Amino acid sequence: MPTCPSCRSKVSEPLKTWPIVEPKKSGEIVESTVGIYRCTKCKAKFPFVVGKQGLRLIESNKLEELHDTIKKMSKVKQDLTEKVDQLEQEKMVAEESLVLTRLEGKAENLKVEVSLLREVKRELEGMIKYLEHAPFQFGAKSPYNQIEGSNSAHHSYDMNT
Ligand SMILES: [Zn+2]
Repeated sequence: MPTCPSCRSKVSEPLKTWPIVEPKKSGEIVESTVGIYRCTKCKAKFPFVVGKQGLRLIESNKLEELHDTIKKMSKVKQDLTEKVDQLEQEKMVAEESLVLTRLEGKAENLKVEVSLLREVKRELEGMIKYLEHAPFQFGAKSPYNQIEGSNSAHHSYDMNT
């Protein structure tokens, strides 16, 4: 944090900053950021170098190579991202089909249960029909008929013996 040259108090926020690029005699390029600050106490304005970064000169064909490498890397990264997306989609599809398989299994079980119940119902219906048309006349409308029927059945039984 820069310090005010007049009153020595710390000033945190610059009024303005801008970059400066200066070549050194060694061939190195130094990029700096210079800021103008205003002291919050005494209102003095002063410049201050915020950041310094050494840059290196590089031949343009090497720079192109670097750019190519970066392009290739980003292509690889894109391919990998697509691959990951694809795998995630495949995983989702697999999970969905797994759920569907489970549901289908359930549906199969239900079908079996339903057909079993139908079978039971058919048997019951057969039994009901049998009982309705049975000689002892459970389904008879008049209790008199029932008694008479059972009597006559009883009677015929006696007759047969
Ligand atoms: Zn000051």
